[in-house]
Amino acid sequence: MKLNIKDTFNKELPADPIRENTRRQVFDAAFSYATPRKPGRPKLVHASEEVAKMIGLDSEDIKSEEFLKVFSGNKVLENTDPYAMCYGGHQFGNWAGQLGDGRAINLAEVVYEDQRWALQLKGAGETPYSRTADGLAVLRSSIREHLCSEAMFHLGVPTTRSLSLMLTGDQVMRDMLYDGNADYEKGAVVCRVSPSFIRFGNFQILAARKDLKTLTELTDYTIRHFFPKIKSTGKESYIEFFNEVVDRTLEMIVHWQRVGFVHGVMNTDNLSILGLTIDYGPYGWLEGYDVDWTPNTTDRGQKRYRFGNQPRVALWNLMHLANAIYPLVDEAPPFKNALDNFQKEYDKKYLEMMQAKLGLEKRENVDQILINQLQENLLLTETDMTIFFRNLADFKKEIMIDSEGEFLGSIKNAFYQPKDLKGKVLEAWIDWFINYKEKLSNDSLSNEERKAKMNEVNPKYVLRNYMAQLAIDAADKDDFSIVNEIFEMLKNPYDEQIENEKWFVKRPEWARHKVGCSMLSCSS
Ligand code: AMP
Ligand code: MG
Repeated sequence: MKLNIKDTFNKELPADPIRENTRRQVFDAAFSYATPRKPGRPKLVHASEEVAKMIGLDSEDIKSEEFLKVFSGNKVLENTDPYAMCYGGHQFGNWAGQLGDGRAINLAEVVYEDQRWALQLKGAGETPYSRTADGLAVLRSSIREHLCSEAMFHLGVPTTRSLSLMLTGDQVMRDMLYDGNADYEKGAVVCRVSPSFIRFGNFQILAARKDLKTLTELTDYTIRHFFPKIKSTGKESYIEFFNEVVDRTLEMIVHWQRVGFVHGVMNTDNLSILGLTIDYGPYGWLEGYDVDWTPNTTDRGQKRYRFGNQPRVALWNLMHLANAIYPLVDEAPPFKNALDNFQKEYDKKYLEMMQAKLGLEKRENVDQILINQLQENLLLTETDMTIFFRNLADFKKEIMIDSEGEFLGSIKNAFYQPKDLKGKVLEAWIDWFINYKEKLSNDSLSNEERKAKMNEVNPKYVLRNYMAQLAIDAADKDDFSIVNEIFEMLKNPYDEQIENEKWFVKRPEWARHKVGCSMLSCSS
């Protein structure tokens, strides 16, 4: 196994001088050295061949003893110095001080085909940032991270990737629902891959400590390596940098809203500075379209991180990022402008995205009413988001809108209770489809052309919450076939896959209130 190792983060930024693995507050540093914990009896559960190729490995490497050792934490690669990053963050709206990589250890950076990749183990044991926890991860949350990272990538959503999923062979104690029923679960380690794992919180902790020196170094480092288009220096470069982070974050959120992804814990320490989806914890996928839905039971009261609130939270987080790097610029207007722009720009991008989901050709503002009305209708009765948009492409613009709802055809499959489709609900849909049909008749696309375009943005397959749970339940019994099956299917989420038609269905009733399906805690 040959990796082209080219470390920068731990070479160019200040290190915590203490090498001991004790939990502590770390000052004047961007990271602390940390060595992965040796697993008891590691076993490879699944690896992504694509991600392996992306970093310069092949399918033989994946099968090697060396791969198993390195990506389970058993062996440290030569000429590397693994480390945990120091960051802080706002958790559920409150400043939490130092957080840091409590169970993530960055192994190394590799460069392959001119692209830099940081390799990071999640669940590889304690670091100086572990606070009161054990630094470990369990199989269920690791399967969820591995499957979802790759599913998101193939959906075209900016995300960190996942190279491998390993069982450690160790047992980990978890109180899954925080209700006093702790039990042992199987320990696991995922190797995440991303150009960088720097978060908003990396900047925030330095600003909170008034460590301007390290803050400047970190910001310069980030711009130098990950924002190469920025050619200016000093203040100018920091303003450009912030604007670019705003754009990338916005882009990511529009994608989340497009596919029905709810992150679940959008704390500032869980937002990547590169605008990548990061930290797959108690995330979930909308099944019934519901702007108020959050999968995270820890957030059940406030629902801060509910689907419909994600754009607002992104803006809130960006405001706190602005506060963190403000001392480098010492002028408020550039930040204010960037933040003010967010709302306008978001509305524009969101509208374009929804127009694409509806197969409408772009045109300014005229479809806002149609989209608002659609969103209201989707809330009238439980309606599966994925099925609705996918099957909407079957609608033909010549079709007669009848009063019985026959015109709905395959779209009817999206309704959880078809019997609800009467009276006011049916009337609202008839009304909407009359308007939709009229818009379509003004468009030049044929039904077939429109369908093809819609199918590029409306996935047929997403990682429904219950699907991940089925994979987990089987894996817990050492059967990894569902992990494999779902992983393969989600590589082509926009394709019709006859053999996978069974996964293109509404959430089964048993999963409605099941733990792991609609209810997830932060325990992982
Ligand atoms: P998150 O769940 O991503 O919001 O994590 C918040 C903070 O808790 C981060 O600093 C994590 O590294 C840390 N953390 C979460 N789980 C563990 C764990 N099992 N052991 C140590 N630190 C953890
Ligand atoms: Mg986190």
